[in-house]
Amino acid sequence: MDRGLYVVATPIGNLADITLRARDTLRAVDVIACEDTRVTGRLLRGHSIATPMTPYHDHNAAQVRPQLIARLFKGESVALVCDAGTPLISDPGYRLIRAVIEAGIDVIPLPGPSAAMAALVVSGLPTDRFMFVGFLPAKSAARSRVFAELASIKATILFFESPKRLPACLSDMAEIMGDRPAAVARELTKTFEQVRRGSLASLAEAYRVEGPPRGEVVIVVGPPLEERASMEDVDRQLRSMLGTLSLRDAVDRVAGMTGMNRREVYARALGLGESHSVRPREDAD
Ligand code: SAM
Repeated sequence: MDRGLYVVATPIGNLADITLRARDTLRAVDVIACEDTRVTGRLLRGHSIATPMTPYHDHNAAQVRPQLIARLFKGESVALVCDAGTPLISDPGYRLIRAVIEAGIDVIPLPGPSAAMAALVVSGLPTDRFMFVGFLPAKSAARSRVFAELASIKATILFFESPKRLPACLSDMAEIMGDRPAAVARELTKTFEQVRRGSLASLAEAYRVEGPPRGEVVIVVGPPLEERASMEDVDRQLRSMLGTLSLRDAVDRVAGMTGMNRREVYARALGLGESHSVRPREDAD
């Protein structure tokens, strides 16, 4: 195995989600740096991997990091894994990667499962532009400040949250970010996998009534809803078009331009009827 730090993604629930390359690399490296040897030990046993492990987590990282760098300098190969998913994504490893890069040693990615990506792709929310925020502050006031900062970002936003705080968190989100489409992805790839989709307020209400769910969750929040055209804008456009177009054509044109429901625009046009000789007998559909 070539010298280097191999950053290896591992399953987020279903043990079969390990890649062939991840399995072969974990077998071949000299040592696996992992958050919790009991958790990674289960993965290794499940795949008949006998490579020695060394703990690397937030509480021992400062001591263990130089030891790992020293082993890499000796020509060894080291794999970095976390308890589940992709290392560094709300998990330890960032400082180790920096140190290895500074030491001039190769860092090799082995991509694979990540709860955020899995939640995004099943959420049904736009995927062209998204932002990963990770864990939120535990207290409502601090959390609300984060939502206020994010409220105007035109992208789908991904959060990790503890199930215990989920109902209160969704309710704060609905209040501060607006009642947008969202999804709660729970226990992905596991037996009780569930994706619940709905507006933030409806999800908050559902979990308020049911109580916090069990297991791990990702919250996916859609981009801000487009500002609705003001009614004054709609009336102004209708007035100008009704001078030259039929009622049907003017309604179609204004509904298309504003994104408003056609029936709503039609009703609006009828309201303007007296002053603009609108022909109300025309069918709205
Ligand atoms: N690095 C990991 C990754 O790439 O998936 C994420 C680690 S972070 C410490 C743990 C959080 O990820 C959980 O609190 C939860 O929000 C989310 N998570 C992990 N596994 C999950 C799963 N199977 N279903 C839903 N969310 C999950």
